[in-house]
Amino acid sequence: MSNTRNRFDHINQRIDQAFKASGRSLQYPLTLLAVSKHQSLDKIEALYQLGQRDFGESYLQEALPKLSKSPHNDIVWHFIGPIQSNKTKEIAQHFQWVHSVDRVKIARRLNSQRLPEALPLNICLQVNISQETQKSGFSSTEIHTAIREITRLPNLALRGLMAIPKPAQQIVQQRQAFRQLRDLMQQINQDFGLNMDTLSMGMSNDLEAAITEGATIIRIGTALFGRREK
Ligand SMILES: *Cc1c(COP(=O)(O)O)cnc(C)c1O
Repeated sequence: MSNTRNRFDHINQRIDQAFKASGRSLQYPLTLLAVSKHQSLDKIEALYQLGQRDFGESYLQEALPKLSKSPHNDIVWHFIGPIQSNKTKEIAQHFQWVHSVDRVKIARRLNSQRLPEALPLNICLQVNISQETQKSGFSSTEIHTAIREITRLPNLALRGLMAIPKPAQQIVQQRQAFRQLRDLMQQINQDFGLNMDTLSMGMSNDLEAAITEGATIIRIGTALFGRREK
C-alpha cells in the first residue's frame, strides 16, 4: 500500500512539474489513466482508495473478470490494446472508452454492438505516428478517409487520437512525435469541422514530453503499479 501511495504521489509530482515547466494552466484537463494490464485487482483497489478512477486494460480475457469482480461502479474502464474483430462486442458493452481503434471495420462493429441504451462509446483513433511497419494504427494520410465514415456512426463519440511513438531517449525526439499527433488532430478538426478534444499520449518514460505537447490523457502502467506480473 505505501509503495502504491509513493508511486502515485511521485507520478502526480512529475505531472505537476511538467505542467509548471510547460507553462500550461493547472486548469488544463489531464486524465491520469492507470494502465492495469497484468496487475492484480488488489493493486487496482489500492489505487482506487487513493482516488484513482480511470483504469486501462489491454487484453479482453484478462480484463473481463477484473471488471466483473471490481465492486465499484464509478470506475471508468478504458480499452487500450489491439482489437480483434471477434472481441468488439464485449469491448463495446463493458468499456466506456476505446483508445486503440485502428480500422474502420472495428469502428463499425463497435458502433453496431454498443447497446442502444448506453451512452455513445468514446473512441480515439490510433495513429502510427512513427510510421513503423510492424505497428498498428492509421497512417496520417489514410486517417482522413476513415474519419469521414466514423463520424457518421451514431453510437460512437470520436474524441481524439492516440499514439505509441517509437521509444526515444531524448526529450526533443519524444516531443516531436507528440507534436505531430497534436498537429494532426488540429488539422482534422479544421478540415472536418470537428472538435475532438483528446490526445491520448505519453507513458511512464515520456509523460513530461507528452504533457508539454498537450496530452489530455497519459497512460501510465509500471510507474504507478510497479513491474507487471506475468
Ligand atoms: C502497457 C501500455 C501502457 C503503459 O506502459 P508503461 O510503460 O508501463 O507506463 C500505455 N499504453 C499502452 C497502449 C500500453 O499497452
